[in-house]
Amino acid sequence: MSNNKIGNVAIVGGTHGNELAGIYLVNHWLKNSTTVTRESFETQLLIANHNAIEVNKRYVDCDLNRQFSAASLNDSSLGNYEQSRAKVINQQLGPKGDSKTGLVIDLHNTTSNMGPTLLVPQRGEFYDLMAIYVRQHMPEVIVFLDEDHKTNDEHHLLCTIGQHGVIVEVGPVPQGVLKHEVTEQMAEMTKVILDFVEAYNSDSLPELNAETDAFRFIKSLTLPVDENNHRIGMVHKNVEGSDFKAVQPGEPIFKTFDGKEICYDGNETVYPTFINEAAYYDNNLAMSLCTKAVIKNPSLK
Ligand SMILES: [Zn+2]
Repeated sequence: MSNNKIGNVAIVGGTHGNELAGIYLVNHWLKNSTTVTRESFETQLLIANHNAIEVNKRYVDCDLNRQFSAASLNDSSLGNYEQSRAKVINQQLGPKGDSKTGLVIDLHNTTSNMGPTLLVPQRGEFYDLMAIYVRQHMPEVIVFLDEDHKTNDEHHLLCTIGQHGVIVEVGPVPQGVLKHEVTEQMAEMTKVILDFVEAYNSDSLPELNAETDAFRFIKSLTLPVDENNHRIGMVHKNVEGSDFKAVQPGEPIFKTFDGKEICYDGNETVYPTFINEAAYYDNNLAMSLCTKAVIKNPSLK
């Protein structure tokens, strides 16, 4: 069934300059590549945002991982540091839409309690098989389908410049901090993905489960603010740290500084994630809401 073999894989670290696990892993693999090398494909390693790493910040001018929509890449007036880096990286690994790279794996950390999460921004049998394989080999992994209804051109994530692309997102870890367990989980998930590609390429996938659970992004929630856009509350302690745990309609999600609880006003069970992610404070984003999804094994359809 693998008629479209993956000829090469790019592993990217340091797209955000203060997410250290991917930076240290990619730098390590640049010196010792055996753990990321497989027979059936080439592996390329890339550090994405040197200037942001230098100053230990997410970015210098703007978020690099929001610069890869086809429109932004084609807009030559967008020329600040990250916008320029995006165009250079797109030439190296892409170009988007006609990519020379079979799979881009972009390594990220989050301050949220998401554990090891495989973020999948596109649909397709390759991703379905990968998700089932990864969860079969590493059951603690959560599969997060992030706006997988959008066309690839619309997506602004770095990983979408490959023919396929995923994000390995692991937390919780503070910005600029290196944590053993988080780094280990990132290395392990990357290894499992590479093993999957090797098996996919050589038509030697093991027997895969009929389906696996996943979460699908619905929308983001912003922190409660006043008419001047000043915050008047914070994420409720019942929700804090409970990424991918159910929240029912009417349950508290925010607490205002004057002591009021703000409750979730939707009418279906939701599963918040990226809860209280430090990098999203710029935009007052409090959390992303998901529904549950099931990924079916395409070879059994
Ligand atoms: Zn990141």
